[in-house]
Amino acid sequence: MNLTDPYDVIVLGGGTAGVIAAVQAGRAGARTLLVEKAAALGGTTTTGGVNFPGLFHAWGQQVIAGIGWDLVRSCVEESGGTLPDFTHYQQPHHRLQIRVNPHVYSALCNEAVVQSGADMLLHAMVADLREEGGDGWQVDLCAKEGIIRCSSRVVIDATGDANATSIAGLPLQHPEEQQPATLTYRVGGYDPAKLDITRLNSAFDAEVKAGRLSYTDASWNTTGADLGRWLHSRGVQSNHIHHIDARDSAGKTRLELQARKSLLSLYRFLRRQPGLEDLTIEYVAPECGVRETATIRGEATVTVHDYQSGRLWEDAVCYSFYPIDLHVSSGSGLDMEMLTEGVVPTIPRAAMIPKGSRNFLVAGRCISSDRLANSALRVQATSMGTGQGAGALAALAASESCTPGDVPLDAMRSLLKAHGAIVPPSP
Ligand SMILES: Cc1cc2nc3c(=O)[nH]c(=O)nc-3n(C[C@H](O)[C@H](O)[C@H](O)COP(=O)(O)OP(=O)(O)OC[C@H]3O[C@@H](n4cnc5c(N)ncnc54)[C@H](O)[C@@H]3O)c2cc1C
Repeated sequence: MNLTDPYDVIVLGGGTAGVIAAVQAGRAGARTLLVEKAAALGGTTTTGGVNFPGLFHAWGQQVIAGIGWDLVRSCVEESGGTLPDFTHYQQPHHRLQIRVNPHVYSALCNEAVVQSGADMLLHAMVADLREEGGDGWQVDLCAKEGIIRCSSRVVIDATGDANATSIAGLPLQHPEEQQPATLTYRVGGYDPAKLDITRLNSAFDAEVKAGRLSYTDASWNTTGADLGRWLHSRGVQSNHIHHIDARDSAGKTRLELQARKSLLSLYRFLRRQPGLEDLTIEYVAPECGVRETATIRGEATVTVHDYQSGRLWEDAVCYSFYPIDLHVSSGSGLDMEMLTEGVVPTIPRAAMIPKGSRNFLVAGRCISSDRLANSALRVQATSMGTGQGAGALAALAASESCTPGDVPLDAMRSLLKAHGAIVPPSP
């Protein structure tokens, strides 16, 4: 791997979207580098502990396929799982999400990136980005040995937090309030059937009133104790960590400290309760899962009206499918609204291009969208769809010596379809 030879495509962030972008660009013949700050690929799907990607199907039909779907399906096959019956689409949407083993998924991502011919650099972050005379980008990476200077025709920001876009000085949108984050963990060492949940909820209430715990340490609900659900689900996906902007390293640090403090306080309280003396923490995700930080200000912005009306954009890269799913800091903690039957929204290329930029694309949850649209399109299947779209556009832009916004849409559609993706038709 020679990091200083010019690349066609550098993908910053090897998470849900970035892995797919790098594999697509590599398979299309582009000289590609994937850069990831963690030790393992997969991002929120693996290191964030959110190992249940959705939704690839809408109203009983598959609407997102391609490289991400192939990886998810292989992971289920190789780890002895089963896929849901997608034709039963009337069931709650979370049952149509696909449970993947995060360790197998991450290893499959490694394999796919290597087989695509792309280079990979783990334990590295983007440090600086400068435009090189309109023909590409100089990309400084912060590696263990210091700064490594690379260059690339096209850069893809797949950091989830739009970090690369911000460092490049391109425009962002910041929500006034971020959706809460969740630290995924799993506890054990007790028998839920032997517990007095009413008594436990009263004790929990008293702790909250004394200011030592908050309801959202063990629930999304902000108004009352719900330890029964927490104990039966063994704590999985049960907390909300509010009011922290985790876009930069200082914010991420505050979040990780707050999330683990929340877990430790709850752990100490529960181990003092009858029947929970031997409660153990069996697993904690390496990173606290972040739902929302910033989005780019793109050449186009997907609004909630576009999303809920199923607008077919003329430059659509992929479909998206999920209810509006805004996690909030009051009431039940969740505002959800299902899509009208038959509606399948699409994602335009222009929402993946920061306004006024050249040779730059964004994939994953930080594409240009208003808050409500983003609460739906941030999910993993859509992130994988935008990842594959960005990889294809970047590879074509590099081979045609043009910027991704000028890649002919027919060429984009052909390349994506050749790699298994489902691309919405032109209107
Ligand atoms: C608690 C929670 C529950 C969720 N529930 C669901 C669900 O049920 N179903 C669903 O489909 N989706 C769900 N989501 C949403 C979904 O998981 C994410 O929105 C999606 O995975 C984001 O993908 P991404 O590629 O944009 O970011 P990520 O997957 O987070 O990838 C970003 C990658 O970039 C790396 N990175 C970050 N900064 C840098 C940097 N500066 N330099 C280099 N690398 C960097 C990170 O380490 C990471 O690997 C949930 C999210 C959370 C947090």
